[in-house]
Amino acid sequence: MILGNLKTIDGRTISIEINENIISKVYYDKKLGKDLEGRLVIPGFVDSHAHIDSNFLLDVCEPVESTKFIEVLERLVECKENLSVDQIYSLSKKSIEYYLLNGSLFVRTHIRINGKKGLERLKIANKLKKEYNNLIHLQIIGFFESENYFDEDSKELIYKAIEVSVDGLGAEPHLQPSLEDRKRLIKFLFDAAIENKLKLDFHADYSDDPNSRVSEIIVSEALKRGIKGVSLSHLVSLHSYNQDYAERLMKWMKNADVNVIVAPITELEESGSFENYPKKRGLPRVNELLEHGINVAIGHNDIQNHFNPLGIGDMLHAIFTLAISDYMFFPTQIEKLFYMATYNGAKALQLEKYGMAENMPANLVILDAKSPIDAVRKSSPARLVISNGKLVHSGGISL
Ligand SMILES: [Zn+2]
Repeated sequence: MILGNLKTIDGRTISIEINENIISKVYYDKKLGKDLEGRLVIPGFVDSHAHIDSNFLLDVCEPVESTKFIEVLERLVECKENLSVDQIYSLSKKSIEYYLLNGSLFVRTHIRINGKKGLERLKIANKLKKEYNNLIHLQIIGFFESENYFDEDSKELIYKAIEVSVDGLGAEPHLQPSLEDRKRLIKFLFDAAIENKLKLDFHADYSDDPNSRVSEIIVSEALKRGIKGVSLSHLVSLHSYNQDYAERLMKWMKNADVNVIVAPITELEESGSFENYPKKRGLPRVNELLEHGINVAIGHNDIQNHFNPLGIGDMLHAIFTLAISDYMFFPTQIEKLFYMATYNGAKALQLEKYGMAENMPANLVILDAKSPIDAVRKSSPARLVISNGKLVHSGGISL
């Protein structure tokens, strides 16, 4: 089968031949096979920041009436803690089905390992990873949330999570009480990740506080140990740093080859919560990060829970939000946003097989749009999704 007359993100005409589950041939500037009328094609969205164990909580719990950040967080955690094993499984499975329909074929999910049923949540995520192995690449980060103090028991818990199986480790060190605690947690995770050949993805400086500065510790550890590809998720404080400090940090971030993963929908929802007007709208200076040559990827983050009652997990909603909120709405920048939601995500997740090249697995999403900006204008256009050579969703586009 040849899917013909498609457009790449950078506007080239492409025709793609698929043989079973492999891309067998790629023809540039040729319109062969089935005419797909110049629709935009990508090798699947990469959703670089998800919590499949936090999605669709509003299916089973009451929405919170308060708009106060802390109260909302408490209700979310309470809901999550009281889910049955069956509910955790079915809501996580629903998340995966939504990702597939939206063409997010590569998803990095953080799974909260502390609190009630932490390791059970992790086992369920691993079970689903196996069940959907042929359709979606699910990458699991064992996530130590900081409502617990990082003590000896926490170390045991993290070791147990590694035994269950994780692709990487993460935590939110900026929420530990002292600088000393933050450093201990970061160093421990680097040690454990190196020892077990795991990836690292921190919820880093997810705060409006210009004095929240754990990213510099993470960058320093990465440099000291020569570890490339560590991810800093959110990094909202970068918005609030003074320019002098921000410039120096970004220089070292580039040297350490870290990734930044921005989740614009929830970052905007949560930023400014502790401030009176004027409130910060904290996004981590995406344009400046890109100018410094730092790899920036995008995550949709939570879907339909207390924090984010909106959303269906469509990466185009995350792209749209970032375009408007961080001055990235011009056509060339929309192109950059598409790269962030595809190839940059593949780099952040350290995917070995990603792209529309010969002998790659046939993972393709064909959007009912002529270009990246046309897709963003439509906000959530129909799409055809092929995963591993299998038609997952036609979106009304006939082959
Ligand atoms: Zn998160």
